[in-house]
Amino acid sequence: LFISIEGGEGAGKTTVIAGIAEALQAAGHQVMTTREPGGIPIAEQIRAVILDRSNTSMDGRTEALLYAAARRQHLMEKVVPALGQGQVVLCDRFIDSSLAYQGHARGIGFEDVMAINEFAINGLMPMLTLYLDVTPEVGLRRIQEAAGREINRLDLEAASFHHKVREGFLLAAEHFKDRIVVINAEQQPENVLNECIATIRARCAG
Ligand code: C5P
Ligand code: MG
Repeated sequence: LFISIEGGEGAGKTTVIAGIAEALQAAGHQVMTTREPGGIPIAEQIRAVILDRSNTSMDGRTEALLYAAARRQHLMEKVVPALGQGQVVLCDRFIDSSLAYQGHARGIGFEDVMAINEFAINGLMPMLTLYLDVTPEVGLRRIQEAAGREINRLDLEAASFHHKVREGFLLAAEHFKDRIVVINAEQQPENVLNECIATIRARCAG
């Protein structure tokens, strides 16, 4: 069972994923949590290049290709083997982040970003995607208030960029109605988590 969790900056993905993992483990499932871009050394190295604040000249299509490359390596090295062992895989970000950030916010277009990602994932889509929806105002405020969180190249984008990211996620949710469930992540953390767990139980039978 392959589930991805998506959201913009400060949506609370990390906290929610830990909560979901705990609940599924308590119900007897074997769970692997992982993140993109990264999760394994090659992909973490690609992540470092993408997020390096000194790489101010990075072209949008270069960025999209790097994400797709990191995604491919992470899938083959980590996700596919875990699924093969019957584990539930909870992945922090997947293809919809590319559609929202590179496809919509950077203006490369859904179709082109989808095309390189189809090449990268070669048919392996999550069965369910939870999109944690927060307005950029709320998300960015959470980030600023979180002590010790490292500020990366993308965090420095203008508020308008983060609005476009949210718009992109909502467009993706519209496009992939059967796969993506939009969760209101401005609620109390406990309610967000409960809604996520209830959705997984309803969609994935247990
Ligand atoms: O989820 P996390 O905060 O670890 O993501 C790292 C950064 O990568 C975020 O700041 C996000 O804006 C950026 N990102 C991106 N395009 C993607 C995936 C992530 O710009 N496709
Ligand atoms: Mg995060």
